[in-house]
Amino acid sequence: MSFKDLGLSDPILKTLKRLDYLTPTEIQTKTIPLILSGKNILASAKTGSGKTAGFVLPILEKLRSLKSPKNKNANALIVTPTRELTAQIQQNVLNYGRNMSITSASVYGGVKIFPQKNKLKNGVGILVATPGRLLDLMNQKAIFLSSVEILVLDEADLMLDMGFLNDIKKILRQLPQRRQNLMFSATFSTEIRSLAKNLNNNLIEVMTASSNSTVESVAQKIYAVDKENKSKLLCYLINEYRWSQVLVFSRTKHGTEKIAKQLNKFGIEAITIHGNKSQNARTRALKDFKSLKAQVLVATDVAARGIDVNDLPYVVNYDLPAIPNDYVHRIGRTGRAGKEGNAISFFSADDGRHLKGINQLTKLSLRPEVLEGFEPSFDLNKPIKTSRSPNKGKKKSKRYFGKARRR
Ligand code: AMP
Repeated sequence: MSFKDLGLSDPILKTLKRLDYLTPTEIQTKTIPLILSGKNILASAKTGSGKTAGFVLPILEKLRSLKSPKNKNANALIVTPTRELTAQIQQNVLNYGRNMSITSASVYGGVKIFPQKNKLKNGVGILVATPGRLLDLMNQKAIFLSSVEILVLDEADLMLDMGFLNDIKKILRQLPQRRQNLMFSATFSTEIRSLAKNLNNNLIEVMTASSNSTVESVAQKIYAVDKENKSKLLCYLINEYRWSQVLVFSRTKHGTEKIAKQLNKFGIEAITIHGNKSQNARTRALKDFKSLKAQVLVATDVAARGIDVNDLPYVVNYDLPAIPNDYVHRIGRTGRAGKEGNAISFFSADDGRHLKGINQLTKLSLRPEVLEGFEPSFDLNKPIKTSRSPNKGKKKSKRYFGKARRR
């Protein structure tokens, strides 16, 4: 199957050739023809699967035959949860639409609103927005949504996790009834299905290989290590194996700063990205990391969700995520578009239940290994504490891995 077979035309095909996109990915093969034929879809795709091109390419194709946008309006609206994702998607729109005259803009919070208002004055073909800033612009009558023909809700599950449901509902109320709806979500929870119903009753579900599975091209390793030795282990791995570019995940904002400080102390150039930083600082950090000015980027989950760094070779889970789904998203930053990647996670004394959740979700059986010189002081075969388990009282003792043991 080629991009031409999917119904895309010359200007886009030329660009794809220049970008070296030889064949469409699975999600692209499924979504592009459906979107081109005007269908409403609810799609799930593995992270790093080429999902963005899966909706941006057919939107560009459709917009070629649509009338120019009205002033302060947009023909297509893409709503995403984070500022970085918004900027990244618009960059994709610019890249893929290079041979075309379709205009686009991205709007998000944390930066001045005035330049964004200016960009919207004459209308745009494609508007990429975070919910909060879009509502601000709507309230200030800088944008009207009455001529939007295509709506995309990207990373819908994260938008709900981040508490954007009411904002999304407000946005939906301003959209015309007749429009095409495209919704992308890593999971299809009851909440997601109910939001999908709000969009349209006839959404076609598009599934690719399980959204909960981790990318096969990512080699995954887990090292057991005492908490107080984590930063030493990280420095050791970076230096010993000459890791050129590493994205490190910490569970907390404070944690990211602490880790970066430790790495800097050891002479490793590390910067941070998290919700407490100004948008300019976040944009600069990402730019420095992508251009290899900084070797390590230490991030929280929300700040790094959806971020695409070309050929990123290493992801480190300094803290295992408390939500198993986050593991899939984190390690999906590497091994993208079929490239090889490595995910290394640190496992400490109270991580038993986190690892168990990850193994259950991904259907893997990841086991912590011990690295010489970093032997942990805790017992790897100790049963998991069940105090925070939702099944409290039902199953008292499970091991970290291997068979459950009856008492
Ligand atoms: P995404 O999942 O949309 O973030 O895309 C992941 C990466 O795959 C991005 O770096 C894209 O540029 C790249 N990509 C998307 N589609 C293709 C394709 N058909 N062939 C090669 N690379 C692609």
